[in-house]
Amino acid sequence: MPNNPSSNEHTSATGILSHSFVLFGALGDLSLRKLMPALYQLEHAKLLSPELAIMAVARSAINTAELRLRVEHTLNQYIGADELDPSSLSGLLQRLHYCQVDLTQAQDYVALEKALTSWHPQVTYYLATPPSLYKDICQHLHTAGAINEHSRIVVEKPIGHDLASSKVINNALALYFEESQIFRIDHYLGKETVQNLIALRFANPLFENQWNNQYIDYVEISVAEDVGIEGRWGYFDQAGQMRDMVQNHLMQLLCLVAMDPPSKLDANSIRDEKVKVLRALKPIKEDAINNHLVLGQYTDGQFKQQPAPGYLNEPDANTNSDTETFIALRVEVSNWRWTGTPFYLRTGKRMESKVTEIIIHYKAHNHFIFNPDQAKLAKNTLVIRLQPSESIALQVLTKEQGIDTGMLLRRDPLQLNLAQTQTNVRIPDAYERLLLEAIKGNQSLFVRRDEVELSWQWCDQVRRSWQSGNKSLAPYPVGSTGPQEALDMIQMYGHHWYEDCDEN
Ligand code: NDP
Repeated sequence: MPNNPSSNEHTSATGILSHSFVLFGALGDLSLRKLMPALYQLEHAKLLSPELAIMAVARSAINTAELRLRVEHTLNQYIGADELDPSSLSGLLQRLHYCQVDLTQAQDYVALEKALTSWHPQVTYYLATPPSLYKDICQHLHTAGAINEHSRIVVEKPIGHDLASSKVINNALALYFEESQIFRIDHYLGKETVQNLIALRFANPLFENQWNNQYIDYVEISVAEDVGIEGRWGYFDQAGQMRDMVQNHLMQLLCLVAMDPPSKLDANSIRDEKVKVLRALKPIKEDAINNHLVLGQYTDGQFKQQPAPGYLNEPDANTNSDTETFIALRVEVSNWRWTGTPFYLRTGKRMESKVTEIIIHYKAHNHFIFNPDQAKLAKNTLVIRLQPSESIALQVLTKEQGIDTGMLLRRDPLQLNLAQTQTNVRIPDAYERLLLEAIKGNQSLFVRRDEVELSWQWCDQVRRSWQSGNKSLAPYPVGSTGPQEALDMIQMYGHHWYEDCDEN
C-alpha cells in the first residue's frame, strides 16, 4: 500500500506544487463544459505551476493537435471569444497532450505509462468517466506501475447508487490508494457561498452564538432546478432525486449548516464534524413516512410560456416509471444542538425557477409589544443563496419611516451581494477551486469515505421505508413550485417554505 503522499511534495520556483495531471474522459461533457474552462481560469489567474502538464485521455482516435483545437473551440463556446485572453489560452493549450486509451484494456495503459515516464512523478488522476470504469482504471494503472505514493485520484459522483454499491467503488479505490490520496467531488463544496457559510458561522460570534435549537425555529434547504432530465432519461430514471441530489449535495449542505465548530480548519477536523451530524440523523421509519416525506413527479405544464412535457412524456420515457423528480423531507438531527429544530430539504426538477437556498428561520420573541396584527412579521430570516446569484441576506425589522406611521414595522434585508460587495473580484466556478485544491492536495473540500457511506445508509433506510409503505407520487405541473403535498407537510408543523412566508 502506498505511503502518505503529503510527506513528499514537489514545489516549483513559483511556490506552487509541480505536478502532472491526467484527465480521463477528457472529451466528455463534464471535461469540456466544466473542467477545461476551470483550467483556463486557473491558467489566466497564474495559479498553475509553469511545469504542470495535462494529459487528456479518451477513446477517440484524435491527436494532440486535434485535442487543442477542440478545447479552443469549447472555450470559445463556454467562456466566449471576447473574454479569452490569447496568452492564457495559448498557455493552457501548450500544456495539453492527448493519449488514446480504451480504459477497459490493460495493454492500452502501457502507452500512457510510457508517455508519463518523463513527466513529473506527482500525478493527479481525474476520473471524468462513467463510475463503472473506476475499478478498471485503478487496477490497470496499478498493473502499469503508474501509481506511487505521490499519486492522487479525483472521482466524480455518483459514488454508487446505494450503500452496497458505494462500498464496491470505495473498496476498489482503497485497494490502490490511501484515503489521503482520494478526492471525492461534490461540486457544491467548491461554491463560494458554501465557503462563506463556514466564514459566516465560525468567524461571526453574532451568528454562531445563536446557531442552535434555542434560537432557530427551523432550517430549509431548497435546490430547485428549472431543467428536466436533459436527454438523460434512462440514467435519471435509475436514480431519482433522492439518489441524484439528496444523498450528496443536500446532505453536504445539511452537514455544513448543522455541524459543530471544528477544532481546526483542516480537512479531517471539518469532516469529523460532518460525520457526527450524519450519525445523528434520525431514521424516517415507515409509520412516519406520511408526515416526513413527499415524493413528486412533474406532469405536462408550461415553461416560459411554452408547453413542456411531463416526465412520462419525455423522449425515451418508460410510461410506467414511478421515479421521483421531486422530494421534500423533514429531517431531524438528534443531538444537543438541534433536537426540536427540524431541517426541511426540498429538491425538484422542472420547477418554476432555478434557485438553491439555505434559509435559517429564527424563532419569534415570546412577548410582542408592537401592533398584534404585525406579530407574524416578527421573525428574522437568514437567506444564504448559492444560485443563481450568490448572496447572503438577513431579514430584519425596522420602523416604517415617517412621522405619521407610528410604530409600523417593515421587513428589509441586510444584504451582502457577493458580486456587488467585492467588485472586480470574479466569483470562481466551483470546479476552479476544486481542481486547484486537488492539485494542492487539500482534502477539505472533498468528501471522505465515511461521509459517503453514512449518507447512503440514511438514504437507503428512507427509501426502504417509502417502498414498504407504498408511498405514492404527487403530481406537479412543469413550471410550478412542486406538489401541494409539500406545502401541506410543512404547514402541518406550523412552518412554511420561504416563498410562502409572511416574513419573506
Ligand atoms: P460523458 O459520457 O459525456 O463522457 C465520458 C467520457 O469518458 C468521454 O470522454 C469518453 O471518451 C470517456 N470514456 C467512456 N468510456 C471509455 C473507455 N472505455 N475508454 C476511454 N474513455 C472512455 O460523461 P460526463 O462527462 O457527463 O460524465 C463523466 C462523469 O462525471 C460521470 O461519472 C458523471 O456521473 C460525472 N458527472 C458529470 C456531470 C456533468 O455535468 N456532465 C456533473 C457531475 C458529475 P470518448 O469521448 O472518446 O468516447
